[in-house]
Order: sequence, then structure tokens, then C-alpha cells
Amino acid sequence: MSYVGRFAPTPSGPLHFGSLVAAVASYLDARANKGRWLVRIEDLDPPRTVPGSIDAILSGLDTFGLHWDGEPMLQSQRQQAYCEALELLRQDGQIYTCSCSRAQFRTNPLYTCHCLTHPPSQKDVAIRIALPHQIITVDDVIIGPQSQNLAHEVGNFVVQRKDQLFSYQLAVVVDDAEQNISHIIRGSDLYHQTPRQVWLQTCLSYKQPIYGHLPIVTNNQGQKLSKQHLARPLDITQAPALLSEALERLGQAAPCNFRQAPVEEQLAWAVTQWDINNVPKRMQDPIAFV
Ligand code: GLU
Ligand code: ZN
Repeated sequence: MSYVGRFAPTPSGPLHFGSLVAAVASYLDARANKGRWLVRIEDLDPPRTVPGSIDAILSGLDTFGLHWDGEPMLQSQRQQAYCEALELLRQDGQIYTCSCSRAQFRTNPLYTCHCLTHPPSQKDVAIRIALPHQIITVDDVIIGPQSQNLAHEVGNFVVQRKDQLFSYQLAVVVDDAEQNISHIIRGSDLYHQTPRQVWLQTCLSYKQPIYGHLPIVTNNQGQKLSKQHLARPLDITQAPALLSEALERLGQAAPCNFRQAPVEEQLAWAVTQWDINNVPKRMQDPIAFV
């Protein structure tokens, strides 16, 4: 199997330390396996795209020496492919319309089945996928296997919202399939979403990629950091120091005399040394840089 990895940022701002760590890990895993590394901009919800952030992310990746292959894919240009996937699910009888508000099933995922038996008559409806009572197990190459009974733990989830926007879950599996992604190394915030994506891959007859989720970042008391805390933009004038910090967090620390080396040199060294088994199970807060 030929290795194709990817980094898929949402353009909600410039790179921050959490996204740098994810980009570095997926880049190194791809290059160490002689693979291609693609970038996909997840601007699925154009009004929420922060102006200038696509350029800021791409130029940030360049500054860190993280050069991608081919042209970045833009989700805002992929509506036709998402429509086709939805149509396949429809033909298969996997989806149904739903007019419920989020508040109605906040405490009970099974309530998401309501409209299966009580089809709504109004026009502004979301589309949900009907899930079987089946346990999905995903073997994560970093964190280990996880199992989820989607129907019980998540509920029939939305594939197209009331405002017609396609859901992240649908878009991400359609695009991963289109880009022939074989390995997905990404942040642990998406770990619990993976079984949903694997189920969609099954429904759409796509090949399942290999998943690896980077561990949760904690402070030195072992507490999980909030997104807000991690989301401050990086000072790119400090790129070599930040990159060496990211490598250290990933359990791939360079020798001391390498830490101020130009980013390309650090990355070339890191590709030869990369060992995914050294990625720690918990990642500590990069106090000095956030
Ligand atoms: N766009 C998502 C994010 O920035 C990542 C999606 C993915 O890696 O699957 O959080
Ligand atoms: Zn409903």
C-alpha cells in the first residue's frame, strides 16, 4: 500500500501550537514512510472562515519547512462530491429527514430516532444517518483500540444540516477517500469522532485508513488544557525553537546542538529518527510557548 498522509486544518485562524504538533507528526510519519503528504483546507462553512487564515496557515507551514505535495484541496469547492455521497446513502435507505432541535436529544442520543418513525412535514430539515446497534472498534496506532456503540453513545448523527451545509463527518470521509489517504495522524480531539467516520466509510464502500491520534495535551499537573489556552498564534520568528519544542512533545527530541538549527535541517533529521512508538501517551503543556 502506498502511504498518503494529510493535514486538514480548519481556517479559523493561523497555526497554533496544537496544530503545529499535529502537522509535524503527520508530516514526519508520511515522510518516514516515503509517503506523500497532502494539505486540505476544511473551509466547509465559508461564513466561519476567518479572512486571511488560509494564507496564514499555508505560509506558516512553509515557514516551518512543512512542504506539502500537490495543490491543497479546498472543501468549499467540493459540494458536488458531498451531494453524490449523500445520494448514495439515500439510495441505500441509510438517511432520513429530521426537524428536531439539539435540545431535544441532549440528554438522550436515542431520541435522534424520533423522526424515523414520525417524519417531519416541514421543509427546513436536517438529514441524519440511521445507525445500527453495533459496536465499532477502531485500532488506533498511538492510543490503542477504542470501541463505541454509535447508536447508544452518539445517536443518529447529522450528515447535512438544516441550513444545507454538509457535516464535517461526511465531508472528511468523502475527501479522505478522494485523496486516497492511507494514514490519518491528527489531534486527540477527534479520537471519539473516528468510529462515526469509520461507519460512513463502511456505508460508502470506502477503504478505511489507519488512524493515530496524538495524546491529549496536559499541564504539569496532568490537567487537560482548554482549546482557548492552546489556540494562541505562534510567533513564527521563533520557528526553529518552536519546531524543536514540537519534536520534544512528540517524543522525538533532537540533540541539544540541533535545537536552533534551521527548520529544514531539524525536519530532515527528524524524518530519519521518527518512531511513532515514542509518541508519549500524555503530552505536556509547552509552557514556554503558549
Ligand atoms: N479540520 C479539523 C480541525 O482542524 C481536522 C479534521 C481532521 O483532521 O480530520 O480540527
Ligand atoms: Zn428529529
